[in-house]
Amino acid sequence: MKKKINKSLMGTATLAIISTLLLTVAVCYHILTTQILDDLRMYAQMAGALISVDGDRGTGDFSYVEEKMNEHQLRITLVASDGKVLYDTATDAKSMDNHADRPEVKEASLSGEGSRIRMSDTLDKNTYYYALRLEDGRVIRVSKTADNMYRLMEYSAPYVLIAMVAIFIVCGLLSVLLAEGIIRPIRLIAKDVENAEKLEEYKEMKPFIDAIRNQHADVLQNAKIRQEFTANVSHELKTPLTAISGYAELIENGMVAEEKEVRRFAGEIHGNANRLLTLINDVIRLSELDDSRVEEKMECIDLKDCAEACVNMLQVNAEKHAVTLHFEGETAFIHANKQMVDEVLHNLCDNAIRYNRNGGYVNVCVKNSIDTAILIVKDNGIGIPEEHQERIFERFYRVDKSRSKSTGGTGLGLAIVKHILIKLNATINLQSEAGEGTTITVVFPAVKETEG
Ligand code: ATP
Ligand code: MG
Repeated sequence: MKKKINKSLMGTATLAIISTLLLTVAVCYHILTTQILDDLRMYAQMAGALISVDGDRGTGDFSYVEEKMNEHQLRITLVASDGKVLYDTATDAKSMDNHADRPEVKEASLSGEGSRIRMSDTLDKNTYYYALRLEDGRVIRVSKTADNMYRLMEYSAPYVLIAMVAIFIVCGLLSVLLAEGIIRPIRLIAKDVENAEKLEEYKEMKPFIDAIRNQHADVLQNAKIRQEFTANVSHELKTPLTAISGYAELIENGMVAEEKEVRRFAGEIHGNANRLLTLINDVIRLSELDDSRVEEKMECIDLKDCAEACVNMLQVNAEKHAVTLHFEGETAFIHANKQMVDEVLHNLCDNAIRYNRNGGYVNVCVKNSIDTAILIVKDNGIGIPEEHQERIFERFYRVDKSRSKSTGGTGLGLAIVKHILIKLNATINLQSEAGEGTTITVVFPAVKETEG
């Protein structure tokens, strides 16, 4: 980051220096050009006045004009109205061509004055010409050679170089300070996220700090949940394993003599082993549901068919509990994974049968509305006291631990249901009253059969 800030600052500085240099040279050159032409006009007027008053004093020599003006770098040319050169301070006038076609002379003959700048052969000098028409029609032309733009650049190059180095050093220092200023709060946040809000002077960092703090809190929360879950799993595993180990030990030590007793203990071992298997399967299922990489196959299924099949399957179980299990429903298509829907149905119906009472009933109903498919599992069993209702979807949460355990419950069923329903975009609603019964309503987004 520091490097990037340095680079961009240096780049900006270089660009600024170069553009300032070019602009300055261009402006200076323009001022210089104007100044030279202004000077030349003044000299031409002076020379014109001298020539008009004194003429050539009969000698054909106008060098006195140059001397009087005390400006030796000037070249003065006097041209007759037909273009013939009458006098030139630099060359013999007789050897010179007709000057009528020189642009500045032509311009002066026509409009009274004319000027031109011509580049010399060596390219580093310019010759400035200014021509003025005298009253008698002759044209006096004054010219001077001066440095051009390239030359100016050459002159200024060392100074520019010094300036550039100085600016570079200043920019370098500035960029270090700037980068440090930007990076400082980030470093402070990284060191201590909890107290990051104390960095009041960095208001702009607030969203960043908030995002990190939230993430941090999430990570801590997740770690806590995971740790609790591990502790719960271990605890739940321990109980049946201790029982298995105890019964096995008794048999091993020959403490159980009667065959009837052996059978009973073997039955206990079997029951606890099954409990262990159920628990392990539930834990595996939960971790599968937690893994967002696992993609479940979605298809168009009829909720009515699934519910009906589930009810039929659990009929024997219901009879065992002396509970009447009844189904009614209409066709309702949903886009879901069949195994997941079966799991939801099984868990809800199983709870309704298990937490029921002798002679109780369970009604499973599927309804189809415009864009939802509704599953209702209603029982008149023991119900759930209000204070537990919020928590029964948590992992390992059981209202009555002993009753749940005696019926083989692990407390993971509704946690699995909740996870599945989130994946299926469905919602779950619980209505229950202790001693009266429970109604669970699940609302799925419905699809038309053709959409699936
Ligand atoms: P599992 O389903 O894993 O075998 P479980 O049935 O104990 O075990 P959940 O299905 O998650 O676990 O249910 C949590 C608790 O909610 C149950 O222990 C029970 O106390 C209560 N509960 C769930 N459904 C009902 C219901 N229909 N009537 C009364 N209590 C219920
Ligand atoms: Mg259950």
